[in-house]
Amino acid sequence: MLVNPQWFEASLAAVFGLLIGSFLNVVIYRLPKMMERQWAAECAEMSGSPQAVGEPFNLMLPRSRCPHCGHQIHWYENVPVISYVFLRGGCSACKAPISLRYPVVEVVSGGLFFLCAWRWGASATGLAWCTFSATLLALAVIDWDTTLLPDDLTLPLLWLGLIAAAMKWTPVSLNASLWGAVGGYLSLWMVYWAFKLVTGKEGMGYGDFKLFAALGAWFGWQALIPMILLASVIGAIVGIAMKFTTGLREGGYVPFGPFLAGAGFTALFFGADTLRQAVGL
Ligand SMILES: [Zn+2]
Repeated sequence: MLVNPQWFEASLAAVFGLLIGSFLNVVIYRLPKMMERQWAAECAEMSGSPQAVGEPFNLMLPRSRCPHCGHQIHWYENVPVISYVFLRGGCSACKAPISLRYPVVEVVSGGLFFLCAWRWGASATGLAWCTFSATLLALAVIDWDTTLLPDDLTLPLLWLGLIAAAMKWTPVSLNASLWGAVGGYLSLWMVYWAFKLVTGKEGMGYGDFKLFAALGAWFGWQALIPMILLASVIGAIVGIAMKFTTGLREGGYVPFGPFLAGAGFTALFFGADTLRQAVGL
């Protein structure tokens, strides 16, 4: 039997994407906590107070446990999607419900890898866009949860975008990529200060500048205006809808990062040119 190689590669990539999605769940949950611990440690150091040396806490340690009963999660309870279905969405020990978010992140990651491999095959370009997708997905969810966009994700994404252009993995020239990064950062930096001078409030964070700079590096400076328009319009619609339906979020702040990420995914799958035409540029 002959298997269509395009299907084969894309399906293999989808399985890989599911496993990466499982890892992204760990990153999404732990990276903000790791940052908070580091800030607490730095504050303690500056104030000269003795620092408690606790258990290691990183992406590998400690092993995952049920937050409800402390049951240590075995490898077979951690198979992407399948375990969730077999456990019927609950802890095997105490039956406390497991958030639907975990399998959703895994499926989205698997789907993104499938689409990237479908279009670009098993190539450096395909791998670059898979890495882009996984990082952007993690950033979107972390920002939604915590309003943080960790430097540990935004900065590598930025560098990789520049490298991808230099290596010709992306169709963007190195020149367009570089100015995309510069323009992405500076444009939001200026909006931030203008907004702060006029209203005295902070409308977004520095993480947004870095994320937009990264998107500029991946898609080139020409895509910056279409992406920011798309992110702003959808962000405004969602923000207003949330105001009317669920009341305001805690602190009344809707993070901008998920909408920037959404614009990035739109540019990835529909092309930066299509995005430009759609907004009439
Ligand atoms: Zn449990």
